[in-house]
Amino acid sequence: QPQIGVLALQGDVREHLYALEAAGARAVPVRRPSEVEAVDAIVLPGGESTTISKLARTFEVLEPLRERIGGGMPAYGSCAGMILLADRIEDGVEGQETIGGLDVTVRRNAFGRQVDSFEADVEVDGVPGDPVHAVFIRAPWVEAVGERVEQLARVKGGPADGRIVAVRQGHLLATSFHPELTGDLRVHALFVELVKGR
Ligand code: GLN
Repeated sequence: QPQIGVLALQGDVREHLYALEAAGARAVPVRRPSEVEAVDAIVLPGGESTTISKLARTFEVLEPLRERIGGGMPAYGSCAGMILLADRIEDGVEGQETIGGLDVTVRRNAFGRQVDSFEADVEVDGVPGDPVHAVFIRAPWVEAVGERVEQLARVKGGPADGRIVAVRQGHLLATSFHPELTGDLRVHALFVELVKGR
């Protein structure tokens, strides 16, 4: 059983811990550099990316996370976590730092004020069966991707038709939405399999 950490500085940490355990991993909260070193993989939760990155600096885990993720440790980010994995941000706050590693540009709060939060069914490559019921909460979308990035899901229909909302680049997985909130374990299961395969 792989040991997967959830960065536990802010955000929906408990939901990810629960989903990972249910998907067959050992899940542990991560707040310290020594904990970053101890896990096989890491989940960056939904929450507020600016707060999480500031706290990561304060708790001295920003550099350790960059080193481990840069060195091939698998990571999965949902929503704010996707922003934290991204190499580039549009509409970030002044000086907003990320962990990076994922060769994408994300647009923060991309879906706009009027549709701040919404739910939609999206087909996700690598997730067999029915579409995933995706919950978007002031979510980012992926504005541009580098060559090595696979696009796993796009929004179908509505004002955001065609926007990329799930990506994978080797050991890195990111979704604009929050599978940890719906009880559908398939995205976490995909990540656990990815971790086991490495
Ligand atoms: N808008 C948030 C941010 O920029 C992300 C929201 C979320 O994780 N649900 O970090």
